[in-house]
Amino acid sequence: MKSVRVCEHGEPLVSVETETPQLKGTEVLLKVNASGICHTDLHLWEGGYDLGGGNRLNIAERGISLPMTMGHEVAGTVISVGPEGDASVIGKECVAYPWLGCGECSTCKRGQENLCATSRSLGVFIPGGYAEYVVLPHAKYCVEHGGIPASQAALLACSGVTTYSAIRKFGDVLKEEPLVILGAGGLGLMALSIVQAMEFKGAIVVDIDPKKLDAAVQAGAIAVVNSSEDGAADKIKEQTGGGAMAVLDLVGAEATINLALDSVARAAQIVVCGLYGGELRVPLPFVPMRPLNIRGSWVGNLTELREVIKLAQDKGIAPVPVTECPLSQANDALMDLKDGKLVGRAVIRP
Ligand SMILES: [Zn+2]
Ligand SMILES: [Zn+2]
Repeated sequence: MKSVRVCEHGEPLVSVETETPQLKGTEVLLKVNASGICHTDLHLWEGGYDLGGGNRLNIAERGISLPMTMGHEVAGTVISVGPEGDASVIGKECVAYPWLGCGECSTCKRGQENLCATSRSLGVFIPGGYAEYVVLPHAKYCVEHGGIPASQAALLACSGVTTYSAIRKFGDVLKEEPLVILGAGGLGLMALSIVQAMEFKGAIVVDIDPKKLDAAVQAGAIAVVNSSEDGAADKIKEQTGGGAMAVLDLVGAEATINLALDSVARAAQIVVCGLYGGELRVPLPFVPMRPLNIRGSWVGNLTELREVIKLAQDKGIAPVPVTECPLSQANDALMDLKDGKLVGRAVIRP
């Protein structure tokens, strides 16, 4: 089978031809129909994240080794299963649940494989969708996506489940209060669409780019705030009747988390899932006095992937603009993403 791999950080992806994997136990083989190219892939390709204060998280220290076949946003058709596998899934078109754990520890047994300390995430620790085929450990990780095109369904495994899981963390407050979304890029518009599909109150969208804010207005945001202008926190407070109760930071930069802290009401919830980088410094007395609830959200679990796919099937989640490319052009598409030249999301159709 063909795949394209990261053989050295920061160097062009290398196209290789290998044997199609032989399945063991309960494993499942999917023929890849669509594989999204994600910002996370850029970090993996570059080899790290900025942690602020001049520090860098080197992915090699997290046990990610090269060569690596990236691609965690995968939709494919199940073509075979291992000797102990569930043959009833053969022929089904599925989204691959990518955030795999060890499957054995108490975190995994609680259904939070995405938080397992020994991650086996698809396209990170095990070979992913920049390839003709991928292997999953078990049929339960195949989520059928009937009614949703493969290129859109694949993205639900990452931006879809990430925003859905983050939004679920706010709980019922969103029935009464608008969600303030920081960042009107792909994730921001996905979050807006999910808030609408879940029939919550709605969203106020914040960004520094007027074009992105226009897109948020078109998509039905209650209000938009340009955070490059003075008084953005005051504008958010005005729009939320005195202070936001729910802020979703999809950027994760010092500017956005500080804007969140300046915009919230007492006992509000701030959920961070952006990975732009930087550092958060908060005077400790504010934690009890204001009281602050800052939570991280890291991708999502298998149940949440099933739920967000069902939500997309039942209520519709606005499609993401997609540029499709063959596997042979994966490197060019990744470079276009790096250079900010891409309109919408690039999806490999091997
Ligand atoms: Zn992704
Ligand atoms: Zn585990």
